[in-house]
Amino acid sequence: MLLELIDLLVPQECVHCARPGRSLCSACTQELNGRGHRVDPNPVPPGLPPAFSISEYSGVARSVVLAHKERGVRSLTRPLGWALARAVAATGYGSVMLVPIPSSRQSRAIRGEDTVGLLAHCAARDLTAAGMRADVQPVLRQVRARLDQSGLGQAARTTNLAYAFVARPWRPSGAVILVDDVITTGATLAEGARALRAIGVRPVAVATVAATALKKGEH
Ligand SMILES: [Zn+2]
Repeated sequence: MLLELIDLLVPQECVHCARPGRSLCSACTQELNGRGHRVDPNPVPPGLPPAFSISEYSGVARSVVLAHKERGVRSLTRPLGWALARAVAATGYGSVMLVPIPSSRQSRAIRGEDTVGLLAHCAARDLTAAGMRADVQPVLRQVRARLDQSGLGQAARTTNLAYAFVARPWRPSGAVILVDDVITTGATLAEGARALRAIGVRPVAVATVAATALKKGEH
């Protein structure tokens, strides 16, 4: 609430092109209007459901995601939520339960709230307004990866994930879709999917605002 007020009071410029006015100018908003499409990483980490996104993680999408996540520019939650909603809609399911990937404890401590959760709620409202059934269930919780990793998923063990997820017991009504702001290798989302399967819930897709185009050597 306070951050939203500060957004309104401080003179704004576009977070991408610095045009004075709104925090995202109308020209840059157009760049976020892409259609949702499949963006599976290569290679696909074990257990990652089909991935959907609307934009490559560069240009406007990158500027907007970073300003929202790192600088807490709350007026960007709506355009990002709308972008996430279209990625979710591209999965083809009419009744969805969105499960946000929790922000890391460190970044949450800085910002005081969970930015992906905000996007998920915004996206669910947009999808509901568009006639779908959509809800948000923040059932995942981050746990520090222990030395004994026998309980962790493949993704958490074979990548540099310093943490893993646990899910609280939950019985979904609708297609379960994991959501995050950006997908890169897919390791974090695959770990989220593993944690859901551990409580007997099978996520059918993952949806993000943007997808990093991996270059050779980044896998
Ligand atoms: Zn702009």
